[in-house]
Amino acid sequence: MSKEKRDIGQPDILQKYCGSMSRRKRKILIVDDDEVSCAVLGNILQSCYDIITAGNGKEALDILKKRKNDISLILLDLIMPVMDGYEFLDIMMADPHFSTIPVIVTTVKEQEEDEIRSMKKGAADFVTKPYRPEIVRCRVERIIHLRETAAVLNVIERDRLTGLYSRETFYMEVQRILEEDPDGKYDLVVADAENFKVVNERLGVKIGDKVLCYMAERYQRNIGNHGICTRMHGDVFAMLIPHGDGSWKEKLLWQWDEEVDGIPLRNLVIKYGVYENVSRKIDSYAMCDRAILALNRIKNRYGKYVSMYDDSLRATLLREQQILDTMELALKERQFQVYYQPKYDIESNHISGAEALVRWIHPELGFMSPGEFIPLFEKNGFISKLDYYVWEETCKNLRKWKDEGHRSISVSVNISRRDFDEPDLAEQIIDLTEKYGIDRELLHLEITESVYTDEPEYIVRTVKRLRDSGFKIEMDDFGSGYSSLNMLSELSIDVLKLDMKFVQSSSRDRKSILGFVISLAKWLNLATIAEGVENEEQVEKLRSLGCDYVQGFYYAKPMPLQEFERYLEKDSNQDEKKREDQTGRGSLMPEEREKRPYKVLIVEDSEMNREILRSMLEPYYYIEEASNGKEAYDYLCGHFGEISIILLDLVMPVMDGFQFMKLRSRDERLSDIPVIITSESHEDGDLMALRVGADYFAGKPYKKELVLRAIETTIERWKWKKSNEY
Ligand code: C2E
Ligand code: CA
Ligand code: CA
Repeated sequence: MSKEKRDIGQPDILQKYCGSMSRRKRKILIVDDDEVSCAVLGNILQSCYDIITAGNGKEALDILKKRKNDISLILLDLIMPVMDGYEFLDIMMADPHFSTIPVIVTTVKEQEEDEIRSMKKGAADFVTKPYRPEIVRCRVERIIHLRETAAVLNVIERDRLTGLYSRETFYMEVQRILEEDPDGKYDLVVADAENFKVVNERLGVKIGDKVLCYMAERYQRNIGNHGICTRMHGDVFAMLIPHGDGSWKEKLLWQWDEEVDGIPLRNLVIKYGVYENVSRKIDSYAMCDRAILALNRIKNRYGKYVSMYDDSLRATLLREQQILDTMELALKERQFQVYYQPKYDIESNHISGAEALVRWIHPELGFMSPGEFIPLFEKNGFISKLDYYVWEETCKNLRKWKDEGHRSISVSVNISRRDFDEPDLAEQIIDLTEKYGIDRELLHLEITESVYTDEPEYIVRTVKRLRDSGFKIEMDDFGSGYSSLNMLSELSIDVLKLDMKFVQSSSRDRKSILGFVISLAKWLNLATIAEGVENEEQVEKLRSLGCDYVQGFYYAKPMPLQEFERYLEKDSNQDEKKREDQTGRGSLMPEEREKRPYKVLIVEDSEMNREILRSMLEPYYYIEEASNGKEAYDYLCGHFGEISIILLDLVMPVMDGFQFMKLRSRDERLSDIPVIITSESHEDGDLMALRVGADYFAGKPYKKELVLRAIETTIERWKWKKSNEY
């Protein structure tokens, strides 16, 4: 919050109030049963005021009920029929809606007793009959003025809706409390109801106001007399609370299980920014700013409710601000540089392409990694400008390499989620390739996995359009999010880019999934690239699993254009023979294995296929056979617990694989045995296999290494799953 913003709020109210005070013709209610007396008073006052009259106290109350906000003053006779002046005073002073309206009592001269009695009941002043016009006008004017200045003060001091301190008063009170208690420790907490907008939108502002009043009351009640509270604006409250051992937590983090007008409050998401143990070196505005800074960090972040301020946060935020302040100029001055990181063909060990990765050479902050500024640009939308710049630089270079007769390699660029906000994204990229006259196949587009899960339809359409126009699409960071495997077959993609953590993780489970994903990609005719490859062991593992391409520090780091060109040159001249030496060393050679204590059930109608599988597996596993689902089911019923894994064909007579899977899903004992589908790779049933709940697949024609790996992986995963179930 800037100082500028702070200053406009309060004086604004003041101005509005005073402005209306001077322009408006005020209304005076004259209550008297004597019509002549009414007329005389009316005459005295009507040039400056609007006059309303009532014949007795009861009539006067009826008028007040309708126009309480309109009436600036009441002139009240004491002796009247129906309801006299005293009774009227008693009733109106007891009602908070009316009690602030000043009353001048009209008495007959020398009736001191009446005057005293009515003043005790709350009348502000009196005038005596017969009226002397000058005196009446003066008293009326003075009383109205007094009341209105008091009202203005009240507006400033209190928030009109909730009755809490106004913001300005809160700032002053904070200052006062800290000065009066120089050794006390205090925390400043700002609370924001994140989804309050919904209340207003769905239920209307009136209910919204009620909820706010309730919240105000609740905050105030919880902090009690120990702290002070203000509504800063909207649904944002600020509190100063004495620091005790985490005392703000006890006071604020309660369950909102009440209802307001039948609206349950438990769904309100309240977020707290906490500046603990406030420093007296800064003023109360700055204290609130710090709590708000902390609060902003967790806005819209699921599951995070409390954020603490600390000085490093401030430093980070200042740096972030500097980044945002300088980004436009940086783009103009070409401070952003595109680096290239080579991608290698794992078999030939040659460069097959590169990824364009942006760097910022900042004149003051120095060399900056995208990890620092990209998330900020994604938030404020600047990323689409920067990305366009990177794409254009990349296209320029592809053109340059073409002109200079370099070997043609592909370069992939990153497409951010925000880039899809541009309705003409596809056109932009197509136009670039046309402008530089480059082959679209050479520009790969890396689109991160999470983009697809976000808003599939619209994005899938754009991606399809790009792919149909000839670009290669790589799904970046695959495995980092929650994309369903089924989705893969429906998306327009060419390459699965496996998330770094697959390669770098040492968790056995993740490693066996790696094998599974690579096989799945093959099955779907997608190429695979693994990124974040940092050592030889990882390369060997990926090679043995059949991964196609690799990228990572083990091979090369991202580098500036010139260096990359030299790299490419060297790569082209590399000795062919050396390549051959480096390939073909799988780590899971069958010879290294011994017979395992597992029994495999082959369910397959073709005798020949059963024979092939048996001969492949015999040296390592015990084998049983069945020629269709029914036979398998009958066998299993007699031999529970003996079979470790089922290899299941899908198309069979009597009972096919789908029917068998259905049966299995209903039988707890059967669903405890993992299933690998062994079917034609191009059959329609392939994807169905996954959908029906199989654990893995090994398509025909069978490859020994693949089938063995499928079994091994599945059993490992199954064991892992079991061990985690208890
Ligand atoms: P990314 O697309 O997943 O890019 C891969 C990141 O991994 C790069 O980080 C790369 O330098 C790094 N990397 C490569 N090999 C290894 C390795 O062996 N080990 C480790 N630990 N890391 C490796 P970088 O360049 O810092 O980029 C970070 C992220 O910033 C990128 O992740 C990408 O999401 C984003 N980014 C970079 N440039 C651009 C761009 O021009 N546009 C957009 N939208 N995003 C970009
Ligand atoms: Ca990428
Ligand atoms: Ca990535």
